[in-house]
Amino acid sequence: MPQLDDLASQCIRCGFCLESCPTFLITGDESQSPRGRITLAKEAHAAKKYSPSTVAALDTCLGCRACETACPSGVQYGKIIEIARDEIKGKNRLQKRLLDSITHPTLAKLQFALGGILPSRKPPVLLSKLLSGQLPQADTPQLPLESAWPPLGEKNLPPIKGQVYLLEGCVMRVLYPGVNDATRRLLRRVGFEVTPTRSGCCGALHAHSGYLAEAEDRAQKLAASMPDDLPVIVNSAGCGSTIKEYGSVVGEGLAEFGKRTFDATEFLHQHGLMDQLKRSKGLIPTNVAYHEACHLIHGQKISSIPKELISAIPGVNLVPLPEADVCCGSAGTYNVFQPKMARQLLNRKWANVANTGAQILATGNPGCLAWIEQANREHDHPIRVLHTLELLESSFSGLRE
Ligand code: SF4
Ligand code: SF4
Repeated sequence: MPQLDDLASQCIRCGFCLESCPTFLITGDESQSPRGRITLAKEAHAAKKYSPSTVAALDTCLGCRACETACPSGVQYGKIIEIARDEIKGKNRLQKRLLDSITHPTLAKLQFALGGILPSRKPPVLLSKLLSGQLPQADTPQLPLESAWPPLGEKNLPPIKGQVYLLEGCVMRVLYPGVNDATRRLLRRVGFEVTPTRSGCCGALHAHSGYLAEAEDRAQKLAASMPDDLPVIVNSAGCGSTIKEYGSVVGEGLAEFGKRTFDATEFLHQHGLMDQLKRSKGLIPTNVAYHEACHLIHGQKISSIPKELISAIPGVNLVPLPEADVCCGSAGTYNVFQPKMARQLLNRKWANVANTGAQILATGNPGCLAWIEQANREHDHPIRVLHTLELLESSFSGLRE
């Protein structure tokens, strides 16, 4: 594993990253900036002691990695924050319990079922209990109503040319199973079939929160569940960026596994989905705005591909979204544990979305989807908030109710 002081010593304190940092944008406070946090983490690491004020400054970091994109010196801030958080002793046990439960599909499903979230869409009961009286301003994402896709049919499908694995994701499979269905359908449209496997959690949420041993365990189990040398397709931006970086902070010996991992949009783009989309029936004339999920644009450097695919949908007009690359405030469990900052960022995101006049907002990460949908719900659903893959599949199958 890289050493925190080696990583932090790459920072030349130029400050180019400051204006890219959402928490600095809101507060103007150096301790809420990448440069300030790197200095604090470096000092705490050297002293082997994280003071409460340093812990607070690191806790308010979204882990969005916008600072990495802005940094001319190539500072790997994402690794610094994960290692620093891992070094903090006596972390928030509530956060650990929440992470353990939402990254276990059966437990998460049970919570949603017990909470009556299926079909009445209330917050999960265990989550409510965990949060009640402890985090009064916390917002919890709620499940969207989803109808099934129509039968795929065999007509116009190309011959099968290969097999892939699909990471169903612990959050995605529970909150947005229709996105996984859309991913399978789109893969089939470009000639790939998904090999069934019982994939678990990739460890991303634990890694981002500084539980590196737990993340390592999950990474090893995930790779063991996908033993064949097939492409691994991921439709959650946070999971994709973590898996692609296996072999560094977590995922010892799994660098090759990371190299055959693809965000679904980049794999579909490589295998001809653009042409298929251009020949699809498309949508009625619709303005679409695209929110850049942090771990897709900053973590995986994927920005133009999803927009090219969306623009290829007949009838779609992709409208510019101001600050599209600024975090919405979801950031894993950030909106639960840092509700005030998360809310400020959501309000800012929503104002930008509303100003576009778009009828659809697309994005590539379940956390962003749930969080922006919360703002949509609070404003009486003026738009549709969709995963990019749902939108792409709608070009063939129509928008679901
Ligand atoms: S841009 Fe990079 S080198 Fe400059 S202060 Fe920020 S992290 Fe340090
Ligand atoms: S990861 Fe995001 S919130 Fe954290 S310091 Fe970098 S830009 Fe700021």
